[in-house]
Amino acid sequence: MTIRILPPDVAARIAAGEVVERPASVVKELIENALDAGASAIAVEVAGGGKRLIEVGDNGSGIRADEAELAFHRYATSKLTRVEDLDGIRTLGFRGEALASIAAVSRLTLVTRAADERGGTRLRLEGGEIVSREVVGAPQGTLVTIENLFFNVPARLKFLKKDATERKQVAALVSRYAMAYPGVRFSLVQAGREALSTAGSGSLQDVLSEVYGVDTAAQMIPIESSSPPRDDLPAIEVWGLVSLPELSRNNRSQIALFVNGRWIQDASLTYAVVRAYHTLLMQGRFPLAVVMVDLPPEEVDVNVHPTKAEVRFRRPDAVFSAVQRAVRRTLVDQAPARGVSEGVFWGQPDWAARRDRLSQVTQERLGQAALDLSLDRPGQVRQQQPPPGADVGAPAPQPRRSLPMLRVVGQVGATYIVAEGPQGLYLIDQHAAHERVLYEQFMAERAEQAIHSQELLEPLAVELLPEQMALLEESLGVLHAAGFVVEPFGRNTVQLRALPVIAAGGDPAEALLAALGEIECGE
Ligand code: ADP
Ligand code: MG
Repeated sequence: MTIRILPPDVAARIAAGEVVERPASVVKELIENALDAGASAIAVEVAGGGKRLIEVGDNGSGIRADEAELAFHRYATSKLTRVEDLDGIRTLGFRGEALASIAAVSRLTLVTRAADERGGTRLRLEGGEIVSREVVGAPQGTLVTIENLFFNVPARLKFLKKDATERKQVAALVSRYAMAYPGVRFSLVQAGREALSTAGSGSLQDVLSEVYGVDTAAQMIPIESSSPPRDDLPAIEVWGLVSLPELSRNNRSQIALFVNGRWIQDASLTYAVVRAYHTLLMQGRFPLAVVMVDLPPEEVDVNVHPTKAEVRFRRPDAVFSAVQRAVRRTLVDQAPARGVSEGVFWGQPDWAARRDRLSQVTQERLGQAALDLSLDRPGQVRQQQPPPGADVGAPAPQPRRSLPMLRVVGQVGATYIVAEGPQGLYLIDQHAAHERVLYEQFMAERAEQAIHSQELLEPLAVELLPEQMALLEESLGVLHAAGFVVEPFGRNTVQLRALPVIAAGGDPAEALLAALGEIECGE
């Protein structure tokens, strides 16, 4: 084959793929443009999971009539002129690619009016080509409407997830930006329903109350301001809100990071936050956190990725430790003291804390010790004869534990069973063992598709995040199969009518949230 330069429309569609991966990426770019334009109110509407319609309106500066068409050219931007500007980027956009990319793969309508202009401009594009241009009456600001995203990229359309999944991504994104810009009024309407609406009061606490619900937000505390500046380090400001140790989730999805007002993904900084909770949270539990890191723009390279979702720090270690220290200090100073960090004193009745601590130590030790305890992991099936007499009371059919016969010596603090076995002393955490019994029961019922659910005396209203709401709607079948009877009930609220019997002893809302957390992790 001969080498040719691709026709512009083909090149444009290929390039667009980098910026526009899914509906949420379109929403992200348009919100960033609105913020860059100084908007104080941003309204997002999505229908059909964003495949049918995405609309983002703002009251920002607007685009002047003579520049409207130019905005849709690739590498057309008002935010950067020289390559040196990259070192001090203060805007969210700068690549001049978003509008061109979005327009290339959709039917797009732009209505905009700049403050000093009398008439507004309406521009329609199809697959990147301008098809009409009119002068219209319009309020100051910009409204971008995208219909039929990916209509001309069938391959991408095929890879999009179910509407509810895309809705969840959009909801997560809009709530993150609402958190990062508490002074901006955000609203989100999905499938005709209002999913989020913030006041723009400037208070992060207010936004969290709206996003998480009042009760959850009340358990989050403001991060104490960073340590005094040091000459040898850049001025790194860390602020935001983090959850008290009592409030946690079973995955990291509620740890949101922003660098200079930009929502980013960063495994290392996420770890810095988790690390700050060391000994305060049980293994496998993660905090909720909204962490803003502000630092001089020359300290961070934002031009790493076409979607600008990742950044590179000039001094990553300094940023890591600034985040960890700020969060840690906040927790140590503000969180009511818990027995965990003070060590294990048997005279003190805080069994729960002690158990957490011990199970942590045990897990760490188990990893190192060369002891052949031959404990299988939950969910793994061992092909072995059940040891005689090891019936733990659970009618679990196949997956037997391979614990040997034990002689019970006694019990400590109503928490540990002390036993003697062929290889020495066994300490059995009663609570964990009980959980395991319930787990085996549940798995056995599940295998027979006979999960018993227990009705609540009165249906319980549970508040969810907008993104959890979308996840729930998508997972109703799975939840039902697991024994939850739950139905949507108003905006971001569900009614829980029944739950699996094995979870009936605890807090029903917690059980539902935990199940959603597991589903979110793909379990
Ligand atoms: P970038 O944001 O990287 O500059 P975009 O393609 O997103 O590139 O936008 C191109 C230009 O269009 C921007 O630089 C800005 O001048 C203008 N623009 C886009 N969206 C808006 C908006 N909502 N309000 C005002 N101007 C906008
Ligand atoms: Mg942009």
